[in-house]
Amino acid sequence: MDVTIRGAGILGLSIAWQCALRGARVQVIDPNGIGAGSSGGIVGALAPHVPENWNNKKEFQFQSLIAAEPFWAQVEEVSGMPSGYGRLGRIQPITDENQLALARRRADNAKMLWQNKAEWCVIDKAPDFAPASTTGFWIKDTLSARLNPRLACDALAEALRLKGVSFAGHGLDQGKSVWTTGAEDLFHISKTLQRPFGIGVKGQAALFDLDRRDCAQVFAQTMHFIPHADGTLAVGSTSERNYDDGTSTDEKLHKLITVAQEVLRDLKTATVIQKWAGVRPRSKSRAPVLGTHPLHPNAYIANGGFKIGLGMAPKIAEVMSDLILDGTDNIPEDFRPENCLT
Ligand SMILES: Cc1cc2nc3c(=O)[nH]c(=O)nc-3n(C[C@H](O)[C@H](O)[C@H](O)COP(=O)(O)OP(=O)(O)OC[C@H]3O[C@@H](n4cnc5c(N)ncnc54)[C@H](O)[C@@H]3O)c2cc1C
Repeated sequence: MDVTIRGAGILGLSIAWQCALRGARVQVIDPNGIGAGSSGGIVGALAPHVPENWNNKKEFQFQSLIAAEPFWAQVEEVSGMPSGYGRLGRIQPITDENQLALARRRADNAKMLWQNKAEWCVIDKAPDFAPASTTGFWIKDTLSARLNPRLACDALAEALRLKGVSFAGHGLDQGKSVWTTGAEDLFHISKTLQRPFGIGVKGQAALFDLDRRDCAQVFAQTMHFIPHADGTLAVGSTSERNYDDGTSTDEKLHKLITVAQEVLRDLKTATVIQKWAGVRPRSKSRAPVLGTHPLHPNAYIANGGFKIGLGMAPKIAEVMSDLILDGTDNIPEDFRPENCLT
Protein backbone atom coordinates (compact mmCIF):
# COMPACT_ATOMS: atom_id res chain seq x y z
CA MET A 1 0.00 0.00 0.00
CA ASP A 2 1.36 3.45 -0.91
CA VAL A 3 -1.22 5.76 0.67
CA THR A 4 -3.70 5.51 3.57
CA ILE A 5 -6.47 8.11 3.62
CA ARG A 6 -8.27 8.59 6.93
CA GLY A 7 -11.71 10.10 6.29
CA ALA A 8 -14.07 9.33 3.41
CA GLY A 9 -15.47 12.82 2.86
CA ILE A 10 -15.06 14.80 -0.35
CA LEU A 11 -11.44 15.75 0.42
CA GLY A 12 -10.31 12.23 1.35
CA LEU A 13 -12.10 10.62 -1.61
CA SER A 14 -10.80 13.23 -4.08
CA ILE A 15 -7.20 12.86 -2.89
CA ALA A 16 -7.56 9.07 -3.04
CA TRP A 17 -8.87 9.44 -6.60
CA GLN A 18 -5.99 11.63 -7.77
CA CYS A 19 -3.44 9.30 -6.15
CA ALA A 20 -5.09 6.20 -7.68
CA LEU A 21 -5.18 7.83 -11.13
CA ARG A 22 -1.45 8.40 -10.80
CA GLY A 23 -0.87 4.70 -10.11
CA ALA A 24 -0.64 4.63 -6.31
CA ARG A 25 -2.12 1.79 -4.27
CA VAL A 26 -4.57 3.44 -1.89
CA GLN A 27 -6.75 2.45 1.07
CA VAL A 28 -9.46 4.62 2.64
CA ILE A 29 -10.36 4.20 6.31
CA ASP A 30 -13.48 5.68 7.85
CA PRO A 31 -15.42 4.13 10.74
CA ASN A 32 -18.58 5.98 9.70
CA GLY A 33 -18.65 5.07 6.00
CA ILE A 34 -18.69 7.14 2.79
CA GLY A 35 -19.77 10.79 3.04
CA ALA A 36 -20.80 10.43 6.68
CA GLY A 37 -19.63 13.95 7.56
CA SER A 38 -20.40 17.32 6.01
CA SER A 39 -19.77 16.01 2.48
CA GLY A 40 -22.87 13.83 2.47
CA GLY A 41 -25.28 16.75 2.29
CA ILE A 42 -27.81 18.14 -0.16
CA VAL A 43 -26.77 21.67 -1.24
CA GLY A 44 -23.76 21.54 -3.61
CA ALA A 45 -23.16 25.09 -4.83
CA LEU A 46 -19.83 25.24 -6.66
CA ALA A 47 -19.84 29.02 -6.73
CA PRO A 48 -16.95 31.48 -7.10
CA HIS A 49 -15.74 34.30 -4.89
CA VAL A 50 -16.49 37.73 -6.31
CA PRO A 51 -13.97 38.82 -8.98
CA GLU A 52 -12.14 41.54 -7.05
CA ASN A 53 -9.32 41.86 -4.49
CA TRP A 54 -7.81 38.78 -6.09
CA ASN A 55 -5.61 36.60 -3.88
CA ASN A 56 -4.18 33.06 -3.68
CA LYS A 57 -7.36 31.62 -2.26
CA LYS A 58 -9.56 33.09 -5.00
CA GLU A 59 -7.16 31.98 -7.74
CA PHE A 60 -6.98 28.47 -6.28
CA GLN A 61 -10.76 28.29 -6.05
CA PHE A 62 -11.11 29.59 -9.61
CA GLN A 63 -8.78 26.88 -10.89
CA SER A 64 -10.65 24.28 -8.89
CA LEU A 65 -14.03 25.33 -10.31
CA ILE A 66 -12.60 25.09 -13.83
CA ALA A 67 -11.04 21.69 -13.01
CA ALA A 68 -14.35 20.41 -11.59
CA GLU A 69 -15.94 19.84 -15.01
CA PRO A 70 -13.41 17.27 -16.33
CA PHE A 71 -12.93 15.90 -12.80
CA TRP A 72 -16.58 14.93 -12.36
CA ALA A 73 -16.94 13.82 -15.99
CA GLN A 74 -14.16 11.30 -15.45
CA VAL A 75 -15.62 10.10 -12.15
CA GLU A 76 -18.99 9.57 -13.87
CA GLU A 77 -17.39 7.78 -16.80
CA VAL A 78 -15.41 5.37 -14.61
CA SER A 79 -18.16 4.74 -12.03
CA GLY A 80 -21.13 4.75 -14.40
CA MET A 81 -22.92 6.77 -11.70
CA PRO A 82 -24.18 10.39 -11.65
CA SER A 83 -22.44 13.07 -9.57
CA GLY A 84 -25.12 15.66 -10.25
CA TYR A 85 -22.48 18.00 -11.69
CA GLY A 86 -23.75 20.63 -14.12
CA ARG A 87 -22.31 24.04 -14.99
CA LEU A 88 -25.50 26.02 -15.44
CA GLY A 89 -24.32 29.26 -13.88
CA ARG A 90 -25.86 31.41 -11.17
CA ILE A 91 -28.29 34.32 -10.89
CA GLN A 92 -28.18 36.99 -8.17
CA PRO A 93 -30.70 39.82 -7.93
CA ILE A 94 -29.16 43.30 -7.57
CA THR A 95 -30.80 45.13 -4.70
CA ASP A 96 -29.71 48.79 -5.01
CA GLU A 97 -27.79 51.31 -7.12
CA ASN A 98 -24.53 50.78 -5.20
CA GLN A 99 -24.73 47.05 -5.79
CA LEU A 100 -25.43 47.72 -9.44
CA ALA A 101 -22.31 49.89 -9.83
CA LEU A 102 -20.28 47.27 -7.97
CA ALA A 103 -21.64 44.47 -10.16
CA ARG A 104 -20.63 46.39 -13.30
CA ARG A 105 -17.10 46.92 -11.96
CA ARG A 106 -16.89 43.23 -11.15
CA ALA A 107 -18.00 42.39 -14.69
CA ASP A 108 -14.93 44.28 -15.95
CA ASN A 109 -12.68 42.56 -13.41
CA ALA A 110 -13.98 39.13 -14.40
CA LYS A 111 -12.91 39.69 -18.01
CA MET A 112 -9.31 39.73 -16.84
CA LEU A 113 -9.37 37.55 -13.72
CA TRP A 114 -11.46 34.73 -15.19
CA GLN A 115 -9.28 34.55 -18.28
CA ASN A 116 -12.15 34.22 -20.77
CA LYS A 117 -13.08 30.90 -19.19
CA ALA A 118 -16.28 32.27 -17.66
CA GLU A 119 -18.35 35.44 -17.63
CA TRP A 120 -19.84 37.68 -14.97
CA CYS A 121 -22.40 40.02 -16.48
CA VAL A 122 -25.25 42.31 -15.51
CA ILE A 123 -28.54 41.44 -17.22
CA ASP A 124 -31.86 43.32 -17.33
CA LYS A 125 -34.17 40.53 -18.49
CA ALA A 126 -35.64 38.37 -15.74
CA PRO A 127 -34.39 34.79 -16.07
CA ASP A 128 -36.96 31.94 -15.99
CA PHE A 129 -36.18 31.05 -12.42
CA ALA A 130 -35.11 34.03 -10.34
CA PRO A 131 -36.27 36.20 -7.45
CA ALA A 132 -37.66 39.64 -8.16
CA SER A 133 -35.04 42.38 -8.41
CA THR A 134 -35.78 45.84 -6.98
CA THR A 135 -33.40 47.44 -9.51
CA GLY A 136 -34.59 45.36 -12.46
CA PHE A 137 -31.06 43.95 -12.86
CA TRP A 138 -29.45 40.61 -12.02
CA ILE A 139 -25.90 39.26 -12.04
CA LYS A 140 -25.41 36.17 -14.15
CA ASP A 141 -22.16 34.24 -13.96
CA THR A 142 -21.25 31.24 -16.06
CA LEU A 143 -18.63 29.85 -13.69
CA SER A 144 -20.97 28.50 -11.00
CA ALA A 145 -21.93 24.85 -11.14
CA ARG A 146 -24.01 22.47 -9.10
CA LEU A 147 -23.08 19.12 -7.60
CA ASN A 148 -25.21 16.62 -5.73
CA PRO A 149 -22.92 16.03 -2.73
CA ARG A 150 -24.39 12.69 -1.67
CA LEU A 151 -24.38 11.26 -5.20
CA ALA A 152 -20.93 12.69 -5.90
CA CYS A 153 -19.42 10.92 -2.87
CA ASP A 154 -21.06 7.64 -3.88
CA ALA A 155 -19.89 7.96 -7.50
CA LEU A 156 -16.37 8.80 -6.37
CA ALA A 157 -16.29 5.82 -3.99
CA GLU A 158 -17.48 3.47 -6.75
CA ALA A 159 -14.89 4.85 -9.21
CA LEU A 160 -12.22 4.29 -6.55
CA ARG A 161 -13.34 0.68 -5.98
CA LEU A 162 -13.14 0.06 -9.70
CA LYS A 163 -9.58 1.41 -9.64
CA GLY A 164 -8.71 -1.10 -6.91
CA VAL A 165 -8.90 1.20 -3.88
CA SER A 166 -10.01 -0.61 -0.71
CA PHE A 167 -12.33 0.75 1.98
CA ALA A 168 -12.42 -0.22 5.64
CA GLY A 169 -13.86 1.04 8.91
CA HIS A 170 -10.64 0.48 10.82
CA GLY A 171 -7.06 -0.46 10.05
CA LEU A 172 -3.41 0.40 10.39
CA ASP A 173 -1.69 3.08 8.38
CA GLN A 174 0.30 1.74 5.46
CA GLY A 175 2.46 3.88 3.22
CA LYS A 176 1.95 7.62 3.53
CA SER A 177 -0.95 8.75 5.73
CA VAL A 178 -3.36 11.58 5.05
CA TRP A 179 -5.84 12.88 7.62
CA THR A 180 -9.00 14.20 6.02
CA THR A 181 -11.20 13.81 9.06
CA GLY A 182 -13.01 17.16 8.95
CA ALA A 183 -14.24 19.15 11.95
CA GLU A 184 -13.49 16.32 14.37
CA ASP A 185 -9.78 16.67 13.70
CA LEU A 186 -9.85 20.48 13.96
CA PHE A 187 -11.38 20.18 17.44
CA HIS A 188 -8.91 17.43 18.36
CA ILE A 189 -5.87 19.43 17.23
CA SER A 190 -7.10 22.54 19.09
CA LYS A 191 -7.63 20.53 22.27
CA THR A 192 -4.30 18.72 22.08
CA LEU A 193 -2.28 21.86 21.34
CA GLN A 194 -4.42 23.90 23.73
CA ARG A 195 -4.82 26.70 21.17
CA PRO A 196 -7.50 27.40 18.58
CA PHE A 197 -6.67 25.61 15.32
CA GLY A 198 -10.15 25.23 13.90
CA ILE A 199 -13.78 24.60 14.74
CA GLY A 200 -16.94 23.11 13.29
CA VAL A 201 -19.70 25.42 12.06
CA LYS A 202 -23.09 23.79 11.82
CA GLY A 203 -25.31 24.27 8.79
CA GLN A 204 -28.90 23.21 8.10
CA ALA A 205 -30.50 22.86 4.68
CA ALA A 206 -33.74 21.67 3.07
CA LEU A 207 -34.59 19.79 -0.12
CA PHE A 208 -37.81 20.54 -2.04
CA ASP A 209 -39.58 18.48 -4.71
CA LEU A 210 -39.34 21.32 -7.24
CA ASP A 211 -38.03 20.43 -10.69
CA ARG A 212 -35.99 23.32 -12.16
CA ARG A 213 -33.19 21.10 -13.43
CA ASP A 214 -32.46 23.23 -16.52
CA CYS A 215 -32.22 26.50 -14.60
CA ALA A 216 -29.22 28.30 -13.15
CA GLN A 217 -28.79 28.27 -9.40
CA VAL A 218 -29.77 31.37 -7.43
CA PHE A 219 -27.99 33.21 -4.65
CA ALA A 220 -30.20 35.68 -2.80
CA GLN A 221 -30.40 36.96 0.79
CA THR A 222 -27.36 34.82 1.68
CA MET A 223 -29.17 31.62 0.62
CA HIS A 224 -28.19 29.19 -2.12
CA PHE A 225 -31.03 27.74 -4.23
CA ILE A 226 -29.69 24.74 -6.14
CA PRO A 227 -31.84 23.03 -8.76
CA HIS A 228 -30.51 19.48 -8.94
CA ALA A 229 -30.45 17.25 -12.00
CA ASP A 230 -32.79 14.73 -10.33
CA GLY A 231 -35.69 17.20 -10.12
CA THR A 232 -35.14 18.29 -6.53
CA LEU A 233 -34.13 21.74 -5.33
CA ALA A 234 -31.92 22.40 -2.32
CA VAL A 235 -31.93 25.53 -0.18
CA GLY A 236 -29.16 26.30 2.27
CA SER A 237 -27.88 27.04 4.73
CA THR A 238 -27.87 28.25 8.31
CA SER A 239 -24.54 29.05 9.96
CA GLU A 240 -24.21 28.21 13.65
CA ARG A 241 -21.15 28.29 15.85
CA ASN A 242 -23.00 27.14 18.97
CA TYR A 243 -24.86 23.85 18.88
CA ASP A 244 -25.30 20.67 20.88
CA ASP A 245 -26.06 18.29 18.04
CA GLY A 246 -24.44 18.88 14.66
CA THR A 247 -26.81 16.66 12.72
CA SER A 248 -30.27 17.63 13.98
CA THR A 249 -32.54 20.21 12.40
CA ASP A 250 -34.66 22.71 14.32
CA GLU A 251 -36.58 26.00 14.14
CA LYS A 252 -33.58 27.76 12.52
CA LEU A 253 -34.17 25.66 9.44
CA HIS A 254 -37.89 26.33 9.65
CA LYS A 255 -37.11 30.08 9.59
CA LEU A 256 -34.77 29.63 6.61
CA ILE A 257 -37.47 27.73 4.71
CA THR A 258 -40.00 30.49 5.41
CA VAL A 259 -37.64 33.20 4.12
CA ALA A 260 -36.70 31.05 1.12
CA GLN A 261 -40.39 30.74 0.19
CA GLU A 262 -40.72 34.52 0.29
CA VAL A 263 -37.67 34.96 -1.95
CA LEU A 264 -38.69 32.36 -4.52
CA ARG A 265 -42.46 32.06 -4.71
CA ASP A 266 -42.29 28.75 -6.64
CA LEU A 267 -41.22 27.15 -3.38
CA LYS A 268 -44.49 28.04 -1.62
CA THR A 269 -46.34 25.18 -3.23
CA ALA A 270 -43.43 22.74 -3.21
CA THR A 271 -43.01 20.09 -0.53
CA VAL A 272 -39.96 19.80 1.71
CA ILE A 273 -38.80 16.22 1.19
CA GLN A 274 -35.61 16.23 3.26
CA LYS A 275 -34.04 18.24 6.06
CA TRP A 276 -30.33 17.90 6.65
CA ALA A 277 -27.65 19.26 8.96
CA GLY A 278 -23.89 18.89 9.07
CA VAL A 279 -20.77 20.48 10.52
CA ARG A 280 -18.45 22.43 8.23
CA PRO A 281 -14.74 22.18 9.06
CA ARG A 282 -13.52 25.77 9.53
CA SER A 283 -9.83 26.41 10.20
CA LYS A 284 -8.60 29.33 12.28
CA SER A 285 -7.38 31.06 9.10
CA ARG A 286 -10.72 30.26 7.34
CA ALA A 287 -8.65 28.87 4.45
CA PRO A 288 -8.03 25.21 3.65
CA VAL A 289 -5.26 23.60 5.71
CA LEU A 290 -2.93 21.53 3.53
CA GLY A 291 0.46 20.07 4.38
CA THR A 292 2.12 18.27 7.27
CA HIS A 293 -0.26 17.26 10.06
CA PRO A 294 0.47 19.35 13.19
CA LEU A 295 0.10 16.31 15.48
CA HIS A 296 1.58 13.64 13.19
CA PRO A 297 4.85 14.91 11.66
CA ASN A 298 5.03 11.94 9.28
CA ALA A 299 1.49 12.35 8.02
CA TYR A 300 -0.40 14.91 5.97
CA ILE A 301 -3.55 16.92 6.64
CA ALA A 302 -6.17 18.24 4.20
CA ASN A 303 -8.94 20.03 6.06
CA GLY A 304 -10.73 23.36 6.47
CA GLY A 305 -12.98 23.15 3.40
CA PHE A 306 -15.51 25.24 5.36
CA LYS A 307 -18.27 26.54 3.04
CA ILE A 308 -16.52 25.75 -0.25
CA GLY A 309 -14.95 22.33 0.34
CA LEU A 310 -16.96 20.67 -2.44
CA GLY A 311 -15.78 23.27 -4.93
CA MET A 312 -12.14 23.21 -3.75
CA ALA A 313 -11.82 19.40 -3.79
CA PRO A 314 -10.45 18.88 -7.35
CA LYS A 315 -7.57 21.35 -6.92
CA ILE A 316 -6.87 20.27 -3.33
CA ALA A 317 -6.61 16.68 -4.60
CA GLU A 318 -4.16 17.78 -7.28
CA VAL A 319 -1.75 19.66 -4.99
CA MET A 320 -2.01 17.04 -2.24
CA SER A 321 -1.18 14.19 -4.62
CA ASP A 322 1.79 16.23 -5.94
CA LEU A 323 3.01 16.51 -2.36
CA ILE A 324 2.28 12.93 -1.27
CA LEU A 325 3.51 11.09 -4.34
CA ASP A 326 6.28 13.35 -5.70
CA GLY A 327 7.24 15.57 -2.77
CA THR A 328 6.39 18.54 -5.01
CA ASP A 329 5.01 21.38 -2.93
CA ASN A 330 2.48 23.46 -4.90
CA ILE A 331 0.49 24.50 -1.84
CA PRO A 332 -0.26 28.23 -1.56
CA GLU A 333 1.39 29.86 1.46
CA ASP A 334 -1.99 30.88 2.90
CA PHE A 335 -3.07 27.24 3.13
CA ARG A 336 -0.21 25.95 5.26
CA PRO A 337 -1.08 24.54 8.72
CA GLU A 338 1.42 26.98 10.27
CA ASN A 339 -1.01 29.82 9.51
CA CYS A 340 -3.39 28.37 12.09
CA LEU A 341 -0.70 27.97 14.74
CA THR A 342 0.40 31.58 15.11
C1 LIG B 1 -25.24 22.64 5.37
C2 LIG B 1 -23.98 22.65 4.58
C3 LIG B 1 -23.99 23.15 3.28
C4 LIG B 1 -22.82 23.18 2.53
N1 LIG B 1 -22.89 23.65 1.26
C5 LIG B 1 -21.76 23.64 0.50
C6 LIG B 1 -21.84 24.08 -0.84
O1 LIG B 1 -22.90 24.45 -1.32
N2 LIG B 1 -20.69 24.10 -1.57
C7 LIG B 1 -19.48 23.71 -1.04
O2 LIG B 1 -18.47 23.74 -1.76
N3 LIG B 1 -19.39 23.27 0.24
C8 LIG B 1 -20.50 23.24 1.01
N4 LIG B 1 -20.45 22.84 2.31
C9 LIG B 1 -19.12 22.55 2.88
C10 LIG B 1 -18.61 21.18 2.50
O3 LIG B 1 -19.63 20.24 2.71
C11 LIG B 1 -17.37 20.84 3.35
O4 LIG B 1 -16.38 21.85 3.20
C12 LIG B 1 -16.74 19.53 2.90
O5 LIG B 1 -17.73 18.54 2.82
C13 LIG B 1 -15.65 19.09 3.86
O6 LIG B 1 -15.19 17.84 3.43
P1 LIG B 1 -14.16 16.98 4.27
O7 LIG B 1 -13.86 15.79 3.46
O8 LIG B 1 -13.03 17.83 4.70
O9 LIG B 1 -14.92 16.63 5.64
P2 LIG B 1 -16.14 15.66 5.95
O10 LIG B 1 -17.05 15.51 4.81
O11 LIG B 1 -16.74 16.12 7.23
O12 LIG B 1 -15.46 14.24 6.12
C14 LIG B 1 -14.70 13.86 7.25
C15 LIG B 1 -14.79 12.36 7.35
O13 LIG B 1 -13.84 11.92 8.34
C16 LIG B 1 -14.41 10.83 9.02
N5 LIG B 1 -13.68 10.67 10.28
C17 LIG B 1 -13.79 11.37 11.42
N6 LIG B 1 -12.89 10.91 12.33
C18 LIG B 1 -12.19 9.91 11.73
C19 LIG B 1 -11.11 9.05 12.13
N7 LIG B 1 -10.55 9.14 13.34
N8 LIG B 1 -10.65 8.12 11.24
C20 LIG B 1 -11.17 8.03 10.01
N9 LIG B 1 -12.20 8.82 9.58
C21 LIG B 1 -12.70 9.74 10.43
C22 LIG B 1 -15.88 11.18 9.15
O14 LIG B 1 -16.65 10.01 9.34
C23 LIG B 1 -16.15 11.84 7.81
O15 LIG B 1 -16.64 10.90 6.87
C24 LIG B 1 -21.59 22.74 3.09
C25 LIG B 1 -21.57 22.22 4.38
C26 LIG B 1 -22.77 22.17 5.12
C27 LIG B 1 -22.72 21.58 6.50
